[in-house]
Amino acid sequence: MSNLYPGIIRKYRQYLPVAEASIVTLHEGNTPLFESVRLAKHYKLPIKLYFKLEGLNPTGSFKDRGMTYAVSKAHEARSQAVICASTGNTSAAAAAYAARMGMKAIVVVPQGKIALGKLSQAQIHGAQVFQVKGNFDQALEVVKELAENPKVTLVNSINPHRLMGQESAAFEIVESLGDAPDFHFIPVGNAGNITAYWRGFNRLHQEGKCKSLPKMCGFQAAGAAPIVLGHPVKNPDTVASAIRIGNPANWQSALDVARDSDGFIAAVDDEEILSAYRAVAQLDGYFCEPASAASIAGVLKMAKQGFFQKGQIVTCTLTGHGLKDPDIAIQQSPPPVVIEPKGAALLEHLKL
Ligand SMILES: *Cc1c(COP(=O)(O)O)cnc(C)c1O
Repeated sequence: MSNLYPGIIRKYRQYLPVAEASIVTLHEGNTPLFESVRLAKHYKLPIKLYFKLEGLNPTGSFKDRGMTYAVSKAHEARSQAVICASTGNTSAAAAAYAARMGMKAIVVVPQGKIALGKLSQAQIHGAQVFQVKGNFDQALEVVKELAENPKVTLVNSINPHRLMGQESAAFEIVESLGDAPDFHFIPVGNAGNITAYWRGFNRLHQEGKCKSLPKMCGFQAAGAAPIVLGHPVKNPDTVASAIRIGNPANWQSALDVARDSDGFIAAVDDEEILSAYRAVAQLDGYFCEPASAASIAGVLKMAKQGFFQKGQIVTCTLTGHGLKDPDIAIQQSPPPVVIEPKGAALLEHLKL
């Protein structure tokens, strides 16, 4: 038992204080930092590129890192329920952690706009699921109205405990590399995660656990790029549903991170996102969800512009697992060929 990986709250206890009896964990975190081999070679990248495989968290996205702490703190504060608006992954994580703690989860999602895998998670973990006739931004307005009620805790990324927990991914990257990378690439939706990584890197830097700080490079989808455009987007539209957000909760903080780290927030279009999505699956064998591929699309776009120098270390967060949204993978692939049940029929189609 004593060698069991304990999850991020117990591993990073000094940063994540909470009463022992309130800790709820699914042993999230400790995800691999995975070196790109064939993708990096195919695109002749001059860098060392690593993917942080956050889809390998227990509910299949990085949201687990924030949710373990947010639900633990909600329990400590004697809340009866957690509530969130979600493009899918937050609701999946909230539902799972609430189930593990015996608390209620109430999730509000945009009607018809969330990936089926994510909806199925919220449902099977027993959350009360509501679909709003509107988009994510409107769903968030709805739950914010309820957040005044002391019996419920809002666990969207405006909850400070979420971001505290999410810092742990930056800690793990520094542990894996022995220092911070030169650049960190990350998809941006509500901009909570980019904020959390930057805080995490800074915390270790102040403690002398890393010598340098990365330049933070955030990527929105072109059809949902309010930070890049400088104004909210009323009807955000992108294949990357997890970052289909028109009015990010942590907007100002994303701008601060870009400025303070000497990085930037930019956009990639759906074609670039889907091309990166296929590339990482077909060249490196890792299946991420479309929103996650925005960070890889960003790396490829910047590489094309000659942005990197030889040997630089680049880390890239792959935020969620591809199985969350299998419809897109099927759309992006040739359909299976139907054959008669005979070896000869199969051979006919093969170029062996
Ligand atoms: C939540 C989420 C994002 C966006 O993260 P923010 O903190 O909202 O910027 C990106 N990808 C996936 C898979 C997500 O679930």
